[in-house]
Amino acid sequence: MKCPKCSGLMYLERLSDFFVIFNVWKCINCGAIMDKTILDNRRKSLAALESVETISQ
Ligand SMILES: [Zn+2]
Repeated sequence: MKCPKCSGLMYLERLSDFFVIFNVWKCINCGAIMDKTILDNRRKSLAALESVETISQ
């Protein structure tokens, strides 16, 4: 897994959010965090942005 920002090496880190323990990819270079939820949210917000742009045009 390479960092999408800096192409640095990413490693799995275990985080806990109250009851849920999940693994995220963390960049050793710039500290960027990637996990499935973040990726899904980014895809949704991108889709939302695109629809807004379509409406405004
Ligand atoms: Zn990075």
